Amino acid sequence: MKLPVAYSVWLVVLASCLFASPAACDQRPSEVEKDADVIIIGAGLSGLSAAVEMGRRGLNVLVIDMNSVAGGHAMLAGGVSMVATPLQERLGIDDSAELAYRDWMDWTEDGDTGWTRYYATNSREMIYDWVTEMGVEFVRIVPGHGNSVPRFHFTKGRAVHLVLPIFRTALRLPNVSFRWNSRAQKLLLEGNRVIGVVVRDLRGGDVRSLFADNVVLATGGFEADVERVLENWIADLPRPDRLLIGAAISATGSGHDLATDAGAGLVRIDRHYIYINGFIDPHDPQQNHALTAANDQSLWVNASGRRFTNETGFDKDILVDLLQQEGSTYWMIFDEAARDGFGMRGAAWLKSPSPTHPILDNPQAVKRAMSWRELADMTGLPAEALIRSVTEFNAMIDAGEDTLFARFSRGDNVPSKVQHEPFYALQMFPVTRKNMGGVAIDAQARVLDKSGQVLPGLYAVGELNGSLGVNGKHGLDGMFLGPAILSGRLAGQSIAAAFTAVAHEPEILPTAQPNSAAAWQPSMPSDALEALLAVPRDGFWHFQVAHRLVVDRQYACSRCHSEQRPFASLSDRSALYSQTRICTNCH
Ligand SMILES: Cc1cc2nc3c(=O)[nH]c(=O)nc-3n(C[C@H](O)[C@H](O)[C@H](O)COP(=O)(O)OP(=O)(O)OC[C@H]3O[C@@H](n4cnc5c(N)ncnc54)[C@H](O)[C@@H]3O)c2cc1C
Repeated sequence: MKLPVAYSVWLVVLASCLFASPAACDQRPSEVEKDADVIIIGAGLSGLSAAVEMGRRGLNVLVIDMNSVAGGHAMLAGGVSMVATPLQERLGIDDSAELAYRDWMDWTEDGDTGWTRYYATNSREMIYDWVTEMGVEFVRIVPGHGNSVPRFHFTKGRAVHLVLPIFRTALRLPNVSFRWNSRAQKLLLEGNRVIGVVVRDLRGGDVRSLFADNVVLATGGFEADVERVLENWIADLPRPDRLLIGAAISATGSGHDLATDAGAGLVRIDRHYIYINGFIDPHDPQQNHALTAANDQSLWVNASGRRFTNETGFDKDILVDLLQQEGSTYWMIFDEAARDGFGMRGAAWLKSPSPTHPILDNPQAVKRAMSWRELADMTGLPAEALIRSVTEFNAMIDAGEDTLFARFSRGDNVPSKVQHEPFYALQMFPVTRKNMGGVAIDAQARVLDKSGQVLPGLYAVGELNGSLGVNGKHGLDGMFLGPAILSGRLAGQSIAAAFTAVAHEPEILPTAQPNSAAAWQPSMPSDALEALLAVPRDGFWHFQVAHRLVVDRQYACSRCHSEQRPFASLSDRSALYSQTRICTNCH
């Protein structure tokens, strides 16, 4: 990779750029050489896919991420939807691109027709074949709404096993390098051509400009910024009174701002996949972040104590009903017999070893009472209405017919009566999750300006481009990870087509072996770690989240660290390669 030769000159320019007009930043000193052929901003699934695509074709690729680790939201995700795959064939699932296209267009109502057809036709080759060749193993397929046959593919664990083989492939390419804890602040332009990016090192505070022939934005969505979601709220639905956050800290839309500041247009920006089953994470001091929960034996009542929807219906229909309720909230009600049916997701600490249930036995989160009146007192629900709703529900169960919301009928899918104390109540809210619109792109993932013209040198991939618009008005399971890979690859192919680079051989990188607990002890006393966790520090977000979990679960340091790889510095690729071994400790 070529290195910049005139940073001192550039630092002077940069200083003027930071304190003077924004136009000053757009001037590139002629003697500065490029830092890479391509800069990718974001090391999530889409950025990694673009990096592998171009790295394999011999381009010098620099990937920048504000986090200290790779993977983005995919590290929290589940499965990916694909069509006519070898696993479907093995399981006897008869599928075709035409069937998938029709299913998806029906469900989404106005999914992008071109991208939906492209995805249905090419997901096997562009996603399934590509990732399995890197070592991803799909082992099961789950049915999902909007699909007449099962298409939602899972690895033997969750999507962490999809991301890590792609990341490891990128690490083995000597022409792909990474810069962590670095936040992209501004794109650099020459005319309307994007030529680089201004980056701030979150740990050291250093600000510098990096230059490349192309910049790929892979920064994800903005679902962690509730204000922004509400400003761009779904056109034909009422705004919720309260909306919890269901996306990671990075999802603030910084890539949208970078792109629009450079002239990009936005499409479908009011499209969001809003989940209906969030409750407040009791570990969140701000009480804004959600965990999600389900219990298919529960009944749901609004603030007036009345049922308001078919609790087992489709989320898209429930959302419409929920947004009409006072406070856009409801209480999930169930009894002791249904306690085991309560399932949660959203935080790794939920799995911490403890004799008590992290939510059901936490009075801050769940109200529990020995009578309906006591439960009404604790929740503020009107007692008479609550009792009437439960009595009606139980009577309909006896009759085998939900005459209010058609949740069950003629004796089918009838839940158990809600009658065994103690009774439980958990207050629920809608939750942000995924953007389904974003930066406008063409068929090669090149960014388009407001008049539909290509902005030279700039690409937008993954959730940033609204996952290709394939989710239309109503999200589909697994149709976010797939578009992240697909659009990352397409951008990579488009950029590589303009280069005549020679591909490098992938390197075999050594992986450090874990030590036994007895063989290696950390040099840091445990109170020093506690001190490092006490105050949030810029650039240490993942460090702090991971180590809080370590303290909580009382893991030995040697579970993740070793004498060879203390991970003090993750600047070299083989240290990073070793580190991927430990991601599944938490994910
Ligand atoms: C809890 C959860 C579960 C999900 N489950 C599924 C599922 O089962 N199936 C499915 O298909 N989809 C799922 N999704 C959605 C899916 O995970 C995402 O749409 C997809 O992973 C997005 O990938 P991405 O690369 O576009 O963006 P991200 O994963 O958001 O990655 C963006 C990266 O860019 C970095 N970044 C952001 N801004 C900057 C900046 N200014 N400078 C430098 N770096 C920056 C971030 O740190 C991050 O690493 C889920 C999402 C969530 C939140």
